[in-house]
Amino acid sequence: MSLRVRFAPSPTGYLHVGGARTALFNWFVARQAGGVFMLRIEDTDQARSSEAHTRAILDGMRWLGMDWDEGPVFQSEGVDRHRADALRLLAEGKAYRDFADPAELAALRESDPDRVIRFPREAADALGAEAAEARAAGGEPHAIRFRVPAGETTWEDRVHGSMRFRNEGIEDLVILRSDGTPTYNLAVVSDDADGRITLVIRGDDHLSNTPKQILLHAALGNPVPDFAHVPMILGPDGKRLSKRHGATAVGDYRSQGILPEAMVNFLSLLGWNPGTEEEVFPAEELCERFSLDRVQKKSAVFDLAKLEWLNGRHLAAAPVDRVAAEVRALMGELPPAEGTRVSAGDGAWFLGLVELLKVRARTVTEIAEVARIYTGDEPPVDADAAAKHLFRDPGAARGHLEALEAALAALDPWELGPLEVTVRSVAEARGVGAGKLIHPLRVALTGQASSPGIFEVMALLGRERSLARIAGAARRVRLEAPEG
Ligand code: GLU
Repeated sequence: MSLRVRFAPSPTGYLHVGGARTALFNWFVARQAGGVFMLRIEDTDQARSSEAHTRAILDGMRWLGMDWDEGPVFQSEGVDRHRADALRLLAEGKAYRDFADPAELAALRESDPDRVIRFPREAADALGAEAAEARAAGGEPHAIRFRVPAGETTWEDRVHGSMRFRNEGIEDLVILRSDGTPTYNLAVVSDDADGRITLVIRGDDHLSNTPKQILLHAALGNPVPDFAHVPMILGPDGKRLSKRHGATAVGDYRSQGILPEAMVNFLSLLGWNPGTEEEVFPAEELCERFSLDRVQKKSAVFDLAKLEWLNGRHLAAAPVDRVAAEVRALMGELPPAEGTRVSAGDGAWFLGLVELLKVRARTVTEIAEVARIYTGDEPPVDADAAAKHLFRDPGAARGHLEALEAALAALDPWELGPLEVTVRSVAEARGVGAGKLIHPLRVALTGQASSPGIFEVMALLGRERSLARIAGAARRVRLEAPEG
């Protein structure tokens, strides 16, 4: 029998990190086995579900490269089948009509939680099936409850191992509410059977639903799927991951400059251990290596610094034109720069810039921010960098910059090698180490205390912009520290 799995998000929110991780594990398993990955939108909670959320979930899946083979199927479209399943259980005596007053039950739940478990059944048995049918025919509102059989329910969880629940502790669950709507457990069982799902991979917050679902499958005569319950994701403080911890929607990371391959890599490590020291993998390799055997039982911790680190590694490895396209999308059209009228669309030049920046950046956003330094007329100046490298010894800084400007103005061609030779010979002529020159030069060119290699920076900025920035910085020092 070929493997069939499904991802079944409720469209009551965007695709969040936990959901995406669950989807990914399903997708890996399906692709490995040449099985079917089905997408099912569990939209039965009409009040909280929305089309916008459904769209965001599909977008998030596509962005991460998780393609599905069947669906999306919508749970709400199966309501007639859900109802028919409930009525079949009723007809077979495996379910009963419950006329109990919900308020009375709620009170009993508080006062006598042990008794409440079988209370509706006792009431139904006391009433008798015939009387119940008569009251139902008379239009009296009631729910339909599943009659949990005696004994125990066991399964071999693919993550948690042998699981065992005593049925006497399981309440006779409502399967059809008094308004005729199916409940979650009935709908899932009916849909999983309809989709011929062979393995259910989902969050372990569903562990307590599983015995109920296994019992329902058995009562309906369905083959019972296998189960794998994957661990919850916690924030760094050990609490369940939530908005308090920052962005939880996958789409937010997209707009923060995270690459999809880095997100996939990061998600895969939330609860799964590749069994190697190495942690940076492309999606295809993750898919090959993934195994439910290496999914841990204990909760996983969401570590933003790790996501950014992984993203940096994927950025460095990604083809420059792809990264450039992402950067361009974030930057929009760039302001024209002095002389060259540079725009993000200036092919080769922009690719060179991104190539230089992507090696040390952690996010696309960071590249876009740094890229502005190179594309604008004047770089935004970091005050601390200027204080340290321009104004601590303004006389020296100004002298260095003016000497550099004069020597560089005569340089031809404006290329990496000659640039380095020139800067080093100016340092020698002034009797200082090259570092002494490079610090003010870097602040003049980039406004920052750190940057990629200074000769690469100059080559990339080009003659006119480099000279203008050096002259501009020398002028500023002269004006702001004339005594220097
Ligand atoms: N719709 C459920 C959820 O989002 C999924 C249930 C399941 O996977 O069985 O938690």
